Amino acid sequence: MDLGIKDKKAIVCAASKGLGRAFAMALAKNGVDLVINSRTASELEATAAEIRAATGRSVTAIACDITTPEGRAKVLAACPNPDILVNNAGGPPRGDFRDWNEADWAKAVNGNMITPIMLIKSVVVGMIARMCGRIVNITSGSVKSAIPELGMSNGARAGLTGFVGGLARQVARHNVTINGHLTGPFLTDRLRSGRVEAAKKAGLPIDEFLTQAFKNSPAGRPGDPLEFGEACAFLCAASSGFIVGQNLLLDGGAFNSTMG
Ligand code: NAP
Repeated sequence: MDLGIKDKKAIVCAASKGLGRAFAMALAKNGVDLVINSRTASELEATAAEIRAATGRSVTAIACDITTPEGRAKVLAACPNPDILVNNAGGPPRGDFRDWNEADWAKAVNGNMITPIMLIKSVVVGMIARMCGRIVNITSGSVKSAIPELGMSNGARAGLTGFVGGLARQVARHNVTINGHLTGPFLTDRLRSGRVEAAKKAGLPIDEFLTQAFKNSPAGRPGDPLEFGEACAFLCAASSGFIVGQNLLLDGGAFNSTMG
């Protein structure tokens, strides 16, 4: 399927690994030039080189913390007028709400709510003027079905989802869409790192443990980041302008609801 986005420009945040990387690769395969970001320069440069080699597209790597105003300014300076913005960042830690203080909450809300909102604010006016924009927020299935030990993630991401639910309806007539990807379990470092202790207890290598853990889920397995990237790219298609303010759950059927 031709997504009709050849030669468009995208910012993909937090993209050296995992879901951001998969999203970036899928966009580049569809002819999009990229500015990608993450904090660890060596890993980011390696990913940029891989995407360039695989797709022949321009990939500019900006190593910085996207959750800071300085980091966002660097990324925006490298791509002031993106056609596509992919918001992503590391997720808040698991834990017990009794252990989280105000600073912990501020960090979670900054990373997973304020940061994407600030980036949207920076690019959306230009997108409206150019009548062309696709914004995708990588969030979590926890927005739809709260995960108790990920309380800060549940809260911060639901806040973002609420805000963009309104904004998406204010900008849609200008061919600017804002949608969310509600991420279920995908085989990335983030998923692995959260289950290392459980795998040790079970006496299994981590990937074997995860294979077992998701055997009884509807899909019978965790997701492949490649699948995530392809689904995300679809939301950025030229013909996806009528998909407005939606939150697409990619969880292999784990959330059981006949509708909605
Ligand atoms: P991952 O494999 O750990 O990759 C995270 C990426 O984000 C890395 O490139 C990392 O590079 C970058 N990053 C983290 N913090 C950053 C920051 N402050 N500024 C810039 N880059 C940053 O994680 P993932 O699985 O792709 O997860 C992506 C998002 O989806 C997270 O918010 C996660 O909570 C959420 N999610 C994932 C799953 C899943 O199953 N994988 C499920 C639900 C939700 P550096 O560390 O070098 O910066």
